[in-house]
Amino acid sequence: MPSIVLATLNARYSHASLGLRCLRANLGELRNEAEIVEFVLGSRAEDVVERILARGPRVVGFGVYIWNVEETTRIVALLKTVAPQVAVVLGGPEVSHETEAQPICRAADYVVTGWGELSFAELARQILRGPRPLMKVHAGIQPPMQQLRFPYGEFADDDLRHRNLYVEASRGCPFRCEFCLSALDRTAWPFPLEPFLAQMARLYQRGARQFKFVDRTFNLKVDSSLAILQFFLDRIEASPADPAFAHFELIPDHLPERLKDLIARFPPGTLQFEIGIQSFNEEVQRLISRRQDNVAAEANLRWLREQSNAHLHVDLIAGLPGEDVASFARGFDRLAGLRPHEIQVGILKRLRGAPIARHTEAFGLRFNPQPPYNILATDRIDFATMQRLSRFARYWDLVANSGRFVRTLPLLLGDSPFASFLAFADALYAAAGSRHAIAGERLYEHLHAHLLVRGVAPAVATGALAADYLASGASGRLGFVEIEPLARARRGQSEPPAAPRRQQRHLRA
Ligand code: SF4
Repeated sequence: MPSIVLATLNARYSHASLGLRCLRANLGELRNEAEIVEFVLGSRAEDVVERILARGPRVVGFGVYIWNVEETTRIVALLKTVAPQVAVVLGGPEVSHETEAQPICRAADYVVTGWGELSFAELARQILRGPRPLMKVHAGIQPPMQQLRFPYGEFADDDLRHRNLYVEASRGCPFRCEFCLSALDRTAWPFPLEPFLAQMARLYQRGARQFKFVDRTFNLKVDSSLAILQFFLDRIEASPADPAFAHFELIPDHLPERLKDLIARFPPGTLQFEIGIQSFNEEVQRLISRRQDNVAAEANLRWLREQSNAHLHVDLIAGLPGEDVASFARGFDRLAGLRPHEIQVGILKRLRGAPIARHTEAFGLRFNPQPPYNILATDRIDFATMQRLSRFARYWDLVANSGRFVRTLPLLLGDSPFASFLAFADALYAAAGSRHAIAGERLYEHLHAHLLVRGVAPAVATGALAADYLASGASGRLGFVEIEPLARARRGQSEPPAAPRRQQRHLRA
């Protein structure tokens, strides 16, 4: 029976928690007394508590994040009701700030804020061996990086085969974008490079092929970036039929030539970059303390799109202080003109502890008091408009980012992507009455109807949608065209096996 259970609710089964594995790897002599038990959002609280208590723990540690705090609060309350003798310890970004004010922290026995590895281990030792600590909130100790044990041995072979593998070559960020919790770090701390690469090599040998780096700024230290990229390129070139796939977060305005040279050598389906633009508005950037050279960022995005095979996922944020709809629309169109594979429109959130809160009064920022603390209105964007932007974001993901409509999308967007897609989003919401449950074929039919309203020739609209439908691999029926005669055209295509499904669709286009 483990004395310690480390638990969390992941957003999906495919997300294997890196945080819990970091904790277990650093428990020292208690490591063998600890078990990781993961759940998925939407699990029934009673079932979660039953599964945890069935292991007979004396200490339960929960990883708490913005996406699971509400459900975890219910689980902690239930657990303390049926097993008050079990010590509940919380950790994670959501409980690391404004700790005392949160119901979940009131229900728990202890909270570790900030870095958890050493402090959770020490706290668990005291709870199990005594004397039991008196203080409820423990500020996590941040050790030198070489003192931390790597968590990768905690991934089971099954995790490597079936789940996203999160890895980190560094923590922290030197930039200060006020909407972001990493703004509090003020610097980045790299793990020792050679031992890190040795860990990656072991994971690769064990069969891992998808590596998702959670580093906030992968291209900060170019020598390290080069070494890591070379590590993957060597293996991809040595084993092109079974390639690795690596995902990194980049800052957009820093892409030296030697980094470009290496990036350009990666074949399709092996590399993905998540790149934050957030806003092209310089006044907004100044207000939120985001340093960004827009011209360099734009040139780098263009280069990546035109000269590399990397899949580009670029982030914008709606609802930032000082940004109105017209300014957001200009930024969106400017970004869309660079043709990244995906544009993620995020709605501003007030993360606990993030400095953006200082603008609340001056810019009339109205945040949802419940998680995920999304912005509901500002002095420049009223609630109804923010709702439209939020649907825009959802539908953009469904239509554009999904890679399922690459032939249809140019017909839909024309020369003014933002305005055109907002009109579609409004029409789709009016017709479907939902932002989520739009069955696959119904979406094609809504698109078809909207294209005709936009004046697209029926044969052109039908041809593009039918081709996209076939390319997606779907095999249902569309109300506006008989697709069976076209169905054989795209069978038998292959794509790099390691690339996630969404990237594979973009590759097929
Ligand atoms: S948004 Fe990105 S660059 Fe800015 S502080 Fe956060 S992690 Fe750093």
